[in-house]
Amino acid sequence: TTVESVTVDSASAEPACAVPEADAPLPVLGSDVLVPLVTGGEVAYAALDYAASAPALRRVWDDVAAYAPYYGSVHRGAGYLSQLSTDLFESSRAAVAEFLGCRAEDQVVFTRSTTDSLNLLASVLPAGTRVFVFETEHHAALLPWQRREGVEVSCLDAPRTPGEAVATLERALAAREPYGPALVCVTGASNVTGELWPVRELAGAARAHGARIVLDAAQLAPHHPVDIAELDVDWVAFSGHKLYAPFGSGVLAGRADWLTGAEPYLAGGGASRKVARRADGGVDVEWHTTAARHEAGSPNVIGVYAIASACKALTEAGFGTLVEREQRLVTRVREGLAEVPEVRVLSLFGDDAPRVGVISFVVEGWNSSHFAAALSAEYGIGVRDGLFCAHPLVRTLLGGHSEEPGECGAPDAAPGGRGEAGVSTAEGRAL
Ligand code: PLP
Repeated sequence: TTVESVTVDSASAEPACAVPEADAPLPVLGSDVLVPLVTGGEVAYAALDYAASAPALRRVWDDVAAYAPYYGSVHRGAGYLSQLSTDLFESSRAAVAEFLGCRAEDQVVFTRSTTDSLNLLASVLPAGTRVFVFETEHHAALLPWQRREGVEVSCLDAPRTPGEAVATLERALAAREPYGPALVCVTGASNVTGELWPVRELAGAARAHGARIVLDAAQLAPHHPVDIAELDVDWVAFSGHKLYAPFGSGVLAGRADWLTGAEPYLAGGGASRKVARRADGGVDVEWHTTAARHEAGSPNVIGVYAIASACKALTEAGFGTLVEREQRLVTRVREGLAEVPEVRVLSLFGDDAPRVGVISFVVEGWNSSHFAAALSAEYGIGVRDGLFCAHPLVRTLLGGHSEEPGECGAPDAAPGGRGEAGVSTAEGRAL
């Protein structure tokens, strides 16, 4: 499961879940992959940080391994391997469109990641767009907008219930009318609390005020079906490496008009349909009006094929089964954590809020990076610590107090050292 962190009863050698046989093959689904690791005579599960990056599904590895010896250039050749790669690239696009329930007129653009997808969307916003975003967003969804000149960003307070989120957005949209183009950016599931956001209702509020909406589905897509038409959102962004595919590929899917109405994200081959030198020495270019407009350069065909394979595997496994199983695990971990008096689980919407398998907690008296290091060194358990690339949200959850961290990216500390990744509060430290 993609549980961010977990407590361990150090007095007992009993692992939290049943131990797979040492030589048992890895199960088919990444959500089942708990790597048993023996340290100091105890068995522990090594990786509880799959919310950061999940291992590829066996099906994905198999598909990639079968194709990898044959990859060729996409859209750039008549040879067999080039044609094969072009076919796989375009059929992967169709598979992702199906996975997301895209409308006929939607485009599926392949990117490097969710961060890349949202930066791409920021780059195509019409001049004067007003962006509405909650302070609770992952930095990938919080930061790209303000870099665009002429785009005004309204950063909204963290709500304490899903209903308050909708009311806050409604109020903010109404207060700033009239505006020209407007965009709401919202996460489907928080990477910090795992809580689900009321996407449909927020989309309804956006529509009612003539705004568009983009869904950051980086944490939602691996856990729940994301249907772009049913949710009535304009765009969806997600990353392959959280969806049980390897790194390096992501998706931005949705409405074509702003995408085709803007300059390409990158200029280069693949994005351009016709290029000619002018008599005055300049260069004329006609850009594609399809998704290729924003996919300049030789694409990551293996990464894209892996994403499509993961989409198919999840659909075939059935989200109903996955959700049901994940919820059992979440309940079990939360109940275990509740028994430890020093532990406080972080939550914005309260204990009963629907959530995916991501849990963050603080441990009284512990610095998060020290606690995470101890879990790794003493029990072989990998968790993520720090502020989870969502500094404003974690500060809110901790009551506004925090250390200044150097987390989320390369450490700022001296070579070999780590940034100050912990979060101190009167009560404890975020993990
Ligand atoms: N949005 C959310 C909710 C995330 O959890 C993450 C990654 O942790 C991102 C966006 C950014 O994803 P990536 O690092 O793949 O660009």
